[in-house]
Amino acid sequence: MAELSARMRALVQPHLASIEPYDPAFSPCRINLSANENTYPVPEPVRAAIDAALAATPLNRYPDPMANALRDELACWHGLARENVCVGNGGDELLFNFLFAFTGRGRTLVTCPPDFSEYAFFASLVEADVVAVPRDPKTFAVDGDALVAAAATADAVIITSPNNPTGNLVPLPLIERVCSACPGLVMVDEAYGEFAPAGSSAVPLIARHANLVVLRTLSKAFGAAGIRLGYVLAAPDVIDVLAAVRQIYSVNVLTQAVATAAVRLRGAYRPVVDAIVAERARMTERMAALAPAGVTVWPSAANFLLVRVPAASEVRRRLRDEYDILVRDFSATPGLAGCLRLTVGTPEENDALAAALTRLVTTEAKELS
Ligand SMILES: *Cc1c(COP(=O)(O)O)cnc(C)c1O
Repeated sequence: MAELSARMRALVQPHLASIEPYDPAFSPCRINLSANENTYPVPEPVRAAIDAALAATPLNRYPDPMANALRDELACWHGLARENVCVGNGGDELLFNFLFAFTGRGRTLVTCPPDFSEYAFFASLVEADVVAVPRDPKTFAVDGDALVAAAATADAVIITSPNNPTGNLVPLPLIERVCSACPGLVMVDEAYGEFAPAGSSAVPLIARHANLVVLRTLSKAFGAAGIRLGYVLAAPDVIDVLAAVRQIYSVNVLTQAVATAAVRLRGAYRPVVDAIVAERARMTERMAALAPAGVTVWPSAANFLLVRVPAASEVRRRLRDEYDILVRDFSATPGLAGCLRLTVGTPEENDALAAALTRLVTTEAKELS
């Protein structure tokens, strides 16, 4: 979207006049590894259950506003109660509602950039002040002491683990320290939690920390980005607030039906997640082998890799135009100069990307020298 017209700049709320909407710079490509979607086929038994659930769903009735069947499945999975779960139209809606309810004008949100750009965007919509606690420029580790200090006066904190786009986890003991220090709420965004090693999730800490809020989504591991279903796990009084501010019918009947079937059969996704984790290791090695060509790759606990390559924007453009492969360019983001984010796809997609990238970084390097 271009800038607002002069007429609109005069009409919108002043703080919205300069807002820049999220732009994923999407263009259709043969191989799309740009948005961290799951590119594997939906497991056959899940596909059948989804099709049956959709066929049995009447469209003439409003959805169950609280999506209780789905909340019960999610609660059962995570060892919590229905009262600990709120669903939303993607994790994005819940992020916005969280900031809308708990931050706002004159209040403070703490984030650890480089992280998910939507946090700062939604914070600007609700006029919250963002206090950034930058990550280590080399390792992207969170500065624990600085985060705890900032959290002590914050209305809300968002910690992304595994982090997008850097791929690393935040240790659970640090999350506990932040929860203890913060008078407000601490959201741990686990959009990629299924790809992380067992024992990395903050969900078990909810029982001990009444101000801990965990965000998850079916968009990544469940391969269901198109249905738009995210959820929050937290203490019941936090859920009551999120339930009170949400658009009551934001999660439609089709999404509720598909998500309930998918979560019920969640075990069927295990082989898919295992395959992506194995491919992640293979792609990490292939990228590490390009070190002599100036490529850096960081370890990842998610379904993507952050790489630093020479002439990153040019490499991204040539991947798209010459190889029909789309990846995400982060080279204009502060702290991520030269960085591209590569979603881990199927073995065939990954091989195509690795081969193309290898050719480009070796030829680009020659053309630059
Ligand atoms: C993808 C993502 C989300 C949520 O995505 P939805 O598709 O809106 O559920 C939230 N946080 C991070 C860091 C993500 O990468």
